[in-house]
Amino acid sequence: MKNVPGYVAEILSALEAAGYEAWCVGGCVRDSLLGREPEDWDVTTSALPEETMAVFAPHAIPTGLQHGTVTVRSDHKNVEVTTYRVDGEYRDHRRPESVVFTRSLEEDLARRDFTINAMAENARGELRDPFGGAEDLRRGLLRCVGEPDRRFAEDALRILRGLRFAAVLGLEIETETAASIHRNRELLRQIAAERIQVELMKLLRGKDAGRILRQYPDVVGVFWPEVLPMVGFAQKNHHHCFDVWEHSIHALEMVKKDDALLWSALLHDIGKPECFTVDGAGVGHFYGHAQISRDLADTMLRRLKCSTEFRETVVRLVEWHDREIPRTDKGVRRALRLLGEKDLRRLIVLKRADNLAQAPEYHNRQLDLDEGEAILEKLLAEDACFSLKQLAVNGRDLLALGLRGAEIGRVLDALLDAVVNGEVPNEREALLGHLRTL
Ligand code: ATP
Ligand code: MG
Repeated sequence: MKNVPGYVAEILSALEAAGYEAWCVGGCVRDSLLGREPEDWDVTTSALPEETMAVFAPHAIPTGLQHGTVTVRSDHKNVEVTTYRVDGEYRDHRRPESVVFTRSLEEDLARRDFTINAMAENARGELRDPFGGAEDLRRGLLRCVGEPDRRFAEDALRILRGLRFAAVLGLEIETETAASIHRNRELLRQIAAERIQVELMKLLRGKDAGRILRQYPDVVGVFWPEVLPMVGFAQKNHHHCFDVWEHSIHALEMVKKDDALLWSALLHDIGKPECFTVDGAGVGHFYGHAQISRDLADTMLRRLKCSTEFRETVVRLVEWHDREIPRTDKGVRRALRLLGEKDLRRLIVLKRADNLAQAPEYHNRQLDLDEGEAILEKLLAEDACFSLKQLAVNGRDLLALGLRGAEIGRVLDALLDAVVNGEVPNEREALLGHLRTL
């Protein structure tokens, strides 16, 4: 392989010099064939774990001996070196009961999930690819190693890994594998919420996330049944040219690189089917959908055990997505006070995406957003005050004036409100003067 880094090549040659076979394997081989920078370099070897330990002592740590994994320190970086192994019987659709070491690289490659992940390459550029992974990569195909139904039954997480690789690498899922994913989707119920969360996070970042969501709503529906009513739900409203699911996917495709934005774009209208009404003229309405969407999103992110910070950010964006961005200094200062700069910026991006995913006649709403955003930039440039830490008086000033305890917080909040509302300039003397009127 042309681009094996030196610190990995050293590990391969040390193992070979000791009489063992050693190969780069899995994701790093796949990524270098694609011209992508691998996240990490994994090594697989015919050496048993204790043999690997002996070759690299004292620079080896027995991280997962029962699975055959030794972490080798090379040039200040860690490389996982794992003994060729075959997985024992699977009991819980997730982990093998036992692993058995083998001296055959081909047997090790056969336990791996997809053909593109089942290739090995050494420092001399020899490629071992018994399942045609390189050809699948060339053709843009994701395919199971072996019989898909069996492989997904062994470990149901592979279902989501498959969707994730397809979304991130822009691969089409081969027919048999695709049919098996649909057929076996219920097995995902055996998978821990945290694992689902990690895979979904990566999937939604993928350049082809939209395509995969369009093709596999049934799979997402196993852990998030709330999405299913969106699929094909006609909005009967001139603002919309797509059903709710397609609209949400369009919105997702228009925000990039920010997990909170991606998740809130996908979920911003999740409550629509629940509050749908049709008026006398046959026009559809969704009164109160932002609140219902907020509550559903909260439940859905809790179910996947998302961090509190991430959940609260997504939920707040969903809750706010249908409010106008203010177009006055005072309005924008208030929004800044409530959301902070980062989330107000996110909200503007979300609202742009939401609008661009609606019927083209309404895309001129972007101009209103431009206006609000210009005010935001102006206020930030002039260092406008919208948070307690920017306020020209602080808790110590109030203590000195004889205020105590919770009162201090309340008074600071009231002073900040007065500044944000334009009643008092953010200047010490003016604020202390205003205090006497409170
Ligand atoms: P990335 O690191 O970009 O997520 P990767 O392919 O390196 O992708 P890892 O989870 O790091 O994925 O796993 C390394 C390799 O181990 C994979 O390429 C694959 O060969 C194998 N592998 C990982 N998870 C599974 C699994 N659930 N079933 C079968 N093989 C797996
Ligand atoms: Mg990896």
